[in-house]
Amino acid sequence: MRLLPAPAGSGIVFRRTDLDNFEIPATGRNVAKVSYATSLMRQGVLISTTEHLLSALIGMGVDNVIIELDNLELPILDGSAQPYVEAFLTAGIKVQRRRREYIRVLRPIEVHEGEKFIGVYPGDGYSISYEIDFPAPIGHDSFSVDLETETYGAEIAAARTFGYKADEEKLRNMGLIRGAGPENAIILSAQGPVNGPLRIEDEYVRHKVLDLIGDLALAGRRIEGRVVAERAGHAMHTALVSRLMKDRGAWELAYVTIHDGAAQNGAVERDAADLAGQLPHITVMMNA
Ligand SMILES: [Zn+2]
Repeated sequence: MRLLPAPAGSGIVFRRTDLDNFEIPATGRNVAKVSYATSLMRQGVLISTTEHLLSALIGMGVDNVIIELDNLELPILDGSAQPYVEAFLTAGIKVQRRRREYIRVLRPIEVHEGEKFIGVYPGDGYSISYEIDFPAPIGHDSFSVDLETETYGAEIAAARTFGYKADEEKLRNMGLIRGAGPENAIILSAQGPVNGPLRIEDEYVRHKVLDLIGDLALAGRRIEGRVVAERAGHAMHTALVSRLMKDRGAWELAYVTIHDGAAQNGAVERDAADLAGQLPHITVMMNA
């Protein structure tokens, strides 16, 4: 996989180098299927497991980038967004000469499904509150973050994906966790993680926030608003994106004013390039 700088206004675009550079923009209209990961499809061409890279891009304030892939699956790396964040910091992120257009939420949009819930509301900044309730050992937890004033790298990036050991064989039979193992996921028994300590006490709920940020990237622009999720997952996250896209009266495209504390992401577009122009692109090294 390789990340290339892209012109202002071009957004996040995947490119399959093994298929004549076929391009799939990271937008809600290209969402394919969603179960344990989010996949994009256009004209029969698939890109799977997009959420962790998209999360890192939004978290680090990158608006425009081309992501070259020579197969359909993004690397799982260590199961978090940390390796991406480190790669962006090494290669550098360039501020572009164009103000960033946000999706400013004007009225609430909510999606309910049984006990699952997700909604987006008007609000300053881009804040996310997530509540989870999983079987032991995770249980109930909640976490909130505002990406305009807090640091994605410090709060979210390191949180790894997780799975129950009891589900492992079932998931493998369904072809859902091809590469998953103790190096790239927290594996759980009812007593706790079987592969070492957690990186952060509330790593599970922070990873759900990581996933949500990545899935909401498919709205195509950064959101100005407040997102609330309860017991949700990729299907609910992407359902909110399609509702948002359809309900054109619920939001407007707007510029936001830079306020104190927003310096991290600013209000101008950025692409994944270096500051001095010495590096032609970011190359993210894959584990395998
Ligand atoms: Zn995830």
